[in-house]
Amino acid sequence: MSNYKGQKTIKGKRLKPESLMMSYGYKPELSEGALKCPIFQTSTFVFKNAEEGKSFFELAYGLRERQPREELGLIYSRLNNPDLEILEDRLTLWDEAEAAAVFESGMAAISTTLFQFLNPGEVVLHSEPLYGGTEYFIKNVLPRFGIHGVGFPAGATRKEIEQLIETQGIQDSLKFIYIETPANPTNALVDIRMCSELAKKYSSQDRQILVGVDNTFLGPVWQHPLKHGADLVLYSATKYIGGHSDLIAGVCLGSKELISEVKSLRTFLGNMAGPWTGWLMMRSLETLKLRMTSQTKNARYVADFLAEHPKVEKVYYLGHLTEGDPQFEIYRKQCLSPGAMISFDIRGGEKQAFRFLNSLKLFKLAVSLGSTESLAEHPATMTHSDIPPEEQVKMGITEKMIRLSIGVEHFEDLLLDLEQALDAV
Ligand SMILES: *Cc1c(COP(=O)(O)O)cnc(C)c1O
Repeated sequence: MSNYKGQKTIKGKRLKPESLMMSYGYKPELSEGALKCPIFQTSTFVFKNAEEGKSFFELAYGLRERQPREELGLIYSRLNNPDLEILEDRLTLWDEAEAAAVFESGMAAISTTLFQFLNPGEVVLHSEPLYGGTEYFIKNVLPRFGIHGVGFPAGATRKEIEQLIETQGIQDSLKFIYIETPANPTNALVDIRMCSELAKKYSSQDRQILVGVDNTFLGPVWQHPLKHGADLVLYSATKYIGGHSDLIAGVCLGSKELISEVKSLRTFLGNMAGPWTGWLMMRSLETLKLRMTSQTKNARYVADFLAEHPKVEKVYYLGHLTEGDPQFEIYRKQCLSPGAMISFDIRGGEKQAFRFLNSLKLFKLAVSLGSTESLAEHPATMTHSDIPPEEQVKMGITEKMIRLSIGVEHFEDLLLDLEQALDAV
């Protein structure tokens, strides 16, 4: 199973990822001719003979060199399972990564990756705001292992970040640059190429600084950080990749070498996704491009509608950036589309925001994002409530802000719902 990747080209032409999501990496002959990949709900795998078992273990434990094109044999589902391997192969296609590792959650992917590459005494430089769980992990968990975080605001210039590195005196301990772009919930962009240049500048012979990008908001269809110099791409696959609000999962992608390091820690933490989650995600990947395209189209209608509405003070939407804004330059360089995440400030404060949220009928009042149904939430008191108020304000999060994740409904119905909820304010 694991040696079969399937055809990626026809007449020498590379097929697009969406054309390969139904078949790539799966060989029906190995599964009774089943057109669809079955769920390999098994904890362990039978070896043909003892020699094969020995050979699989030698490779898994690094006791011998890998033969050309040889892949890890199936041993035990904490190490590998066909549903995860095929899923990982398919996930590499969008970001054109060499390898992928799938996890039990986005947080499992993020925490395992940071643990793998950071050692006591080293520093992770990160953009702000970050996803709440990541922020907590960097601020409260990593310091217990002697690893410290230094944050810079999304939108900071290269000069400002260099100054921060130097005033903090972290030139020689910096090991990882971790960014989220677009930032949640403000849609502020961080220049990936600039971060990769900073990493090069401060790396030394025995300390290579890695750049990791949480690409949950635009990826893997609308932004490909590896092409802009990132070393690792991370996802909460709970969001667009899963896309139906029915699973929790995470992904880390990068070079074969880096991902094999990430997978070795995953094996010992035991936080890989199970076969059922793997299978569900393969099902989701077949419609990823369709869903994201439809969501992005709907989002444009919603953003334009909000921008014109008298009860709306400000809209945070990548599609409204204009020439001359440094954020627009970053957008043009690294984003393929504005995506389907919109925030806006309603005129008034928490009272008006809550009135609006409580009046919605089609939009669901829930956190999370990227799913087929449209969602609305209040960052200041929900997803970002553990950030102190003065920090929130610095990040542009106020009590009048509402975050929307746009789904695949008919856009006219979404506008109707927003209009009646704004009328109620
Ligand atoms: C949801 C989310 C995470 C965490 O992912 P889980 O799957 O919930 O563990 C990380 N980063 C971003 C940007 C997210 O939206």
